[in-house]
Amino acid sequence: MISATRILQPPASVGVELEIDKPLAGLTSIKIGGPADYCATVTHTHQLLRLVRWARQVELPYLILGGGSNVLISDAGVAGLVIHNRCRAIRIDPAPCCVFPQDERPFLYAESGALLAGAARTSINGGLAGLEWAVSVPGTVGGAVINNAGAHGGEIKDNLWDVMLLDDGGDVEIVGAGDLDYRYRHSSLKRGESVRAGFGPVVLSANFRLAAGDGEQIRATAQGFLEHRRRTQPVEPSLGSTFTNPPGDYAGRLIDAAGLRGQRIGGIEVSRTHANFLVNPAGVGGAKAADVVALMALIRETVYQRFAVELQPEIQRVGEWA
Ligand SMILES: Cc1cc2nc3c(=O)[nH]c(=O)nc-3n(C[C@H](O)[C@H](O)[C@H](O)COP(=O)(O)OP(=O)(O)OC[C@H]3O[C@@H](n4cnc5c(N)ncnc54)[C@H](O)[C@@H]3O)c2cc1C
Repeated sequence: MISATRILQPPASVGVELEIDKPLAGLTSIKIGGPADYCATVTHTHQLLRLVRWARQVELPYLILGGGSNVLISDAGVAGLVIHNRCRAIRIDPAPCCVFPQDERPFLYAESGALLAGAARTSINGGLAGLEWAVSVPGTVGGAVINNAGAHGGEIKDNLWDVMLLDDGGDVEIVGAGDLDYRYRHSSLKRGESVRAGFGPVVLSANFRLAAGDGEQIRATAQGFLEHRRRTQPVEPSLGSTFTNPPGDYAGRLIDAAGLRGQRIGGIEVSRTHANFLVNPAGVGGAKAADVVALMALIRETVYQRFAVELQPEIQRVGEWA
């Protein structure tokens, strides 16, 4: 909770108003998390840019929240400003022939708050191949660029051309995908397993390079991925895969083999559909972040005892932890 004597509001030129003590659970896919001191929703990149610059100026630490589909927000919430990114523009641009005389592959431009699945859908409808795998991955383009999201053998780095960033120094720069140190669920922009609001770089938009393909085939591939997900993943609120897959194995297989399917702590349980998913069946108010942390610790310990494998979290802890 912030002190009432220090309530901040940005100038009208920023174009957004801050909400105070805003509950965040409803903004996450697992429906868990305490309040943010301040929260604002941005819908245009210029608002995002101005708001971040203002926050830096008044030394108010900030945290960008995309789809909230990879973050476990603490029960104590976030000290600082949570910026809920709903900058959603997506378009397909032809390659400028003066720059790429031999390569006509178009670009797909997306603001960082655009849904990744929406970007995939736009490319599929345009008969472009390369993002079919993303059609069922929750979250925003910004979150996916940070995490190198991937599925069905594809990942962000395969088609990402460049990213527009607000860097640490306050400059807007274009960074080529090759300079972001992409690896499995990792980029140089990712801030570690547990993060608090701060003053880090912000992804403003991304350009993907896609190839024209067989429209019918592209659609059929995407449809197959959607159906596979419906068959194999739970529908209850979750954060997707809790742990990364260890080399040569699957976290879900190990958790299942350790006898933990259906294991419950508080309101959180190991999904019976996919053991690497922890689900919060009751939704907002049904479980605490502390339950998730306790269940993750139990899983790690049990899997280690049984198989001598140390599972690494894929989800990120956010906010204030004791
Ligand atoms: C049901 C389900 C299925 C899933 N399946 C997959 C899957 O198949 N493959 C996969 O890779 N992931 C999967 N995930 C995880 C998740 O969807 C991805 O990690 C996704 O890319 C996260 O994006 P987000 O917008 O929700 O990020 P958030 O959870 O909102 O944020 C993640 C981190 O990125 C930072 N961030 C977000 N946007 C910006 C920005 N613009 N600038 C700077 N920092 C930013 C946040 O501050 C935070 O630190 C799944 C999740 C769920 C719930």
